[in-house]
Amino acid sequence: LDAHIAPYVGESGELRGVVAVLHDVTETRRLEQIRSEFVANVSHELKTPVTSVKGFAETLLDGAMYDEATLREFLKIIYDESDRLHRLISDILDLSRIEQHRIPLKMEQLNVVDVVAETVQTMRKRIEKKQLELVLPQKRHVMMEADKDRLRQILLNLVTNAIAYTPDKGRIEISLIERENELDLIVSDTGIGISEKDLPRIFERFYRVDKARSRQSGGTGLGLAIVKHLVESYHGKIRVESEEGKGSTFIVTLPRTQTRPDAV
Ligand code: ADP
Repeated sequence: LDAHIAPYVGESGELRGVVAVLHDVTETRRLEQIRSEFVANVSHELKTPVTSVKGFAETLLDGAMYDEATLREFLKIIYDESDRLHRLISDILDLSRIEQHRIPLKMEQLNVVDVVAETVQTMRKRIEKKQLELVLPQKRHVMMEADKDRLRQILLNLVTNAIAYTPDKGRIEISLIERENELDLIVSDTGIGISEKDLPRIFERFYRVDKARSRQSGGTGLGLAIVKHLVESYHGKIRVESEEGKGSTFIVTLPRTQTRPDAV
């Protein structure tokens, strides 16, 4: 609590009372803390791949480059780590743009079924490699007003996770449930699931249940934070149901017509 206290003096100078202005700073402090934690996390996340790139490049320059097998192996590591760095930076920039409402929305009438099909198309290879069964919406037309790129990004992040956290030969289903004013976009998988303890935290930035696993699948720990921000900018909601060892279901509820959405 921030307090400012001043005497309240009458016309002839007599003290009539005290004026106290109380200002609740808990929220401001909390936001400041979140911000500084974020900066600390970002720095840490960026440091890891940079240290690795630097170390392997140094070893190569010190002479390891003359052995062709080592040269290949180390270059591959340097490539992968820079790729990771690139993904991290673009996720961090996306998140900050969304938060600062800096990306203008391009609202249009869309057939969500087409958007789903197009998005999934870009992930076909990964789905085939893991021999996953993919079930798509039954209907051919489900119309809504939305920004296509944003909708794609929501889907892309959810399906990318479904693929990453589902063992080979599992099943991923994308379904749509229409109501008069709302639409549920559901991505469910038969993957490793999320424990009750972790469930409330997975939308936090950089929160990962299993760091090694996320890293291995190329995760940045920002995918769900981005999804949550995007969904909320559309005045939508997201929730998740999950059982460890059985699978997870992410349900995004979006309004079908926008009154005046926040600029994302
Ligand atoms: P990441 O880049 O690590 O996947 P996300 O923000 O997308 O980061 O997700 C945060 C964490 O939530 C993941 O690290 C993972 O532990 C968990 N998670 C997300 N989606 C799923 C899913 N479909 N099944 C199981 N766990 C999931």
